[in-house]
Amino acid sequence: MRSHLLNGLTAGHYRRSVTEGVERVAARLAATDRPFTGVTADDLAPRIDGIDLDRPLGDTTAALDELEEVYLRDAVYFHHPRYVAHLNCPVAIPAVLGEAVLSAVNSSLDTWDQSAGATLIERRLVDWTAARVGLGPGADGVFTSGGTQSNLQALLLAREEAKTDDAARLRILASEASHFSVRKSAKLLGLGPEAVIVVPVDQDRRMRTLALARELERCRREGLVPMAVVATAGTTDFGSIDPLPEVAGLCDRFGAWMHVDAAYGCGLLVSPTRRHLLDGIERADSVTVDYHKSFFQPVSSSALLVRDGATLRHATYHADYLNPRRAVAERIPNQVDKSLQTTRRFDALKLWMTLRVMGAEGVGRLFDEVCDLAREGWRMLAADPRFDVVAEPALSTLVFRYIPAAVTDPAGIDRANLHARKALFASGDAVVAGTRADGRHYLKFTLLNPETRPADLAAVLGLIAGHAEQYLGESLDRAS
Ligand SMILES: *Cc1c(COP(=O)(O)O)cnc(C)c1O
Repeated sequence: MRSHLLNGLTAGHYRRSVTEGVERVAARLAATDRPFTGVTADDLAPRIDGIDLDRPLGDTTAALDELEEVYLRDAVYFHHPRYVAHLNCPVAIPAVLGEAVLSAVNSSLDTWDQSAGATLIERRLVDWTAARVGLGPGADGVFTSGGTQSNLQALLLAREEAKTDDAARLRILASEASHFSVRKSAKLLGLGPEAVIVVPVDQDRRMRTLALARELERCRREGLVPMAVVATAGTTDFGSIDPLPEVAGLCDRFGAWMHVDAAYGCGLLVSPTRRHLLDGIERADSVTVDYHKSFFQPVSSSALLVRDGATLRHATYHADYLNPRRAVAERIPNQVDKSLQTTRRFDALKLWMTLRVMGAEGVGRLFDEVCDLAREGWRMLAADPRFDVVAEPALSTLVFRYIPAAVTDPAGIDRANLHARKALFASGDAVVAGTRADGRHYLKFTLLNPETRPADLAAVLGLIAGHAEQYLGESLDRAS
């Protein structure tokens, strides 16, 4: 069994095993003609449950053969041009290489004595990103597991910086299109359900700043403390970007921490043509970026950035066994002092390899391509009488629905769209997302694959219309 542990003596086994796995994945990627096979949980569960975990196969090839059956064959493949559902990207090869290196070396980013150079590489990338945001010389941050954790930490810092000890008076303001992790964070921070004030959005799904101003005034009148305003730079559904300069002005006026959730929109930081869409982000107190969304990085790769690095002290605890207080005086860089996590992956290496091979502009150009594709898709939808499209995209999502000529009953239209999405998923021909807008069911394209062509969008729209029409035809038959 020792031969399965990676060390200097097992280098040959390591090389052969990993290469065999890489070959399998490469073959699978090349052979994939649909994003999904349409397998159901009921189909797969018996295959997975039938495996006796107490009887190992003892052999890499056999384990990979088995893995084909339970995972590789039926996985949902984000690299396929007709996977257009969620905020998942095809991954950059240099990042995948980084992933292989980081898990083999297995540095842990909590302390210098478990990471050495890895800590400094992460710090460089934090500084690089903070400079792109424009946060100024006092900025700092840390890599996290994702936007959810980044938002939680940002709101923790905001709460600790708030000028009250009375938690019942604390309020967080976020738009109705903001991410649900804002509400989840409020709960984790021990705040009540009324702590998050939902600010309405305009028809482009951007926070209404007049409404924000009114809510801030109301907080002041009622003795409530607006501990943070969360501006979303790229809402999950619409890619809409809240008016950052206006939000910044209001945060200044009312003494609120400005958090910008740029989990999705962070790709604009490297865009050669669209960086201006983030103007105002440099006034934030904290910023969430998800490289695993718009920087083409594998999950997970994310960071929280703060204007004033000293605020990260609210996450600092010392342990004699890990990061004793004296390490600070000795200027030993221990990232755990800034993180909610302890043992932590060297995810930064993926971004590092990406920047060293492709460069920031290379990444930004890819993100620009998918934003261009979304505009093309919007023109297509707006010109197509079979569909209703919600908002002109600022980034790379399209929210739309099929509107049958024959049916006027809103519930029937909802059902037809829900059915079309399910039927499409079951066919595996394409994967689209669904959401609600203005109380009705909609479908959603999230475009993060530069290989997706307008012709793919047209084909997927044709499939959606076909499934919806078939459903409506059948329900008319049933009715008659
Ligand atoms: C995806 C997303 C998040 C959550 O990020 P995870 O990496 O999935 O945890 C937060 N905010 C926005 C706007 C998002 O789109």
